[in-house]
Amino acid sequence: MAPYFHCSRVNSTTFLIHENDKYGEHPFIYVKIYEHPSLIVLSDTGCGGPDQDRKKREADSLKDFIETCPIDDNGDKALNPRLPDGTVTKQYLIICTHCHYDHILGVSPFESSKATVLSSSYDPSFSQKDFAEHSLCRFLNIPAPEFNVSTWATDGQKLTYKGLPLDLQIIHTPGHTPDELAWYDASERHLYVGDSFYQRVAKDGSYEQAILFPKEGNWIHYLESLRKLQRSVESENEREPDKAAVRVGCGHVTSDASAMGMLVEVESLFNRILAEEVPIVKEESKRGEVYATWKEDGAPQYSVEAPIRLAQEARKFQSSG
Ligand SMILES: [Zn+2]
Repeated sequence: MAPYFHCSRVNSTTFLIHENDKYGEHPFIYVKIYEHPSLIVLSDTGCGGPDQDRKKREADSLKDFIETCPIDDNGDKALNPRLPDGTVTKQYLIICTHCHYDHILGVSPFESSKATVLSSSYDPSFSQKDFAEHSLCRFLNIPAPEFNVSTWATDGQKLTYKGLPLDLQIIHTPGHTPDELAWYDASERHLYVGDSFYQRVAKDGSYEQAILFPKEGNWIHYLESLRKLQRSVESENEREPDKAAVRVGCGHVTSDASAMGMLVEVESLFNRILAEEVPIVKEESKRGEVYATWKEDGAPQYSVEAPIRLAQEARKFQSSG
């Protein structure tokens, strides 16, 4: 059986934790370790950890995994080792890429150690009003976790901690949800895009995932966000042409790929879908709407699942412009 949490290194300061959750979401959680300030930046908290029977053999929770499990790629040390008195070496700053359940269910244990939680300020009402619905917890019949957002990050905000720069920048990328955000790690030249996009098939081929939109998605905003990310990656690549081109890590499936390459491919796919050049391979009713899956023949890099309405609204918008 695959381990419940699997951790591997993404770059010199950042690790990927892949959660093998019971919902089949396979969230990708990123852990960036700082020395000055002494801090862990955690991008999302996954699906809430293993069930009771696996807890006995594996970690109790994501927090427990980060603080107690020796990691091969980290010289056999835990990512944030506990001190003898049970407290942690480093404080936590949690970047919430958006409030879907598979990105927030592991948050509660961090609340007790006074983690700072950051969300997008684009539309705070999305995660404040009807949270059980917007987080999708209602559809799984599970309670939505309670947590306080301490920082509503503005578009372009550069993050600091205790007055020290983190070299991270928040980029609002509404589309998957209104609160979807990306964050850019300038020192590692790595962009993290949450659920905005990812490849279709897992690295080991064991599962596949469509780029997914809930009924709160918006393809007009989504395409604007893709172009905005392209502009920012392009200017970063041009600003330091001698350095490696910007890489991208996603909320599922993809942790390290060419950012510009994926952005161009995904935008082109959505344009083909809007031009009705991509076949719909499945339709189903969910949450009172008809959802379609668009997938090209053969073994395409991506597939998309969304309410058909989102495509219709985007087509209408394009033809009106
Ligand atoms: Zn999501």
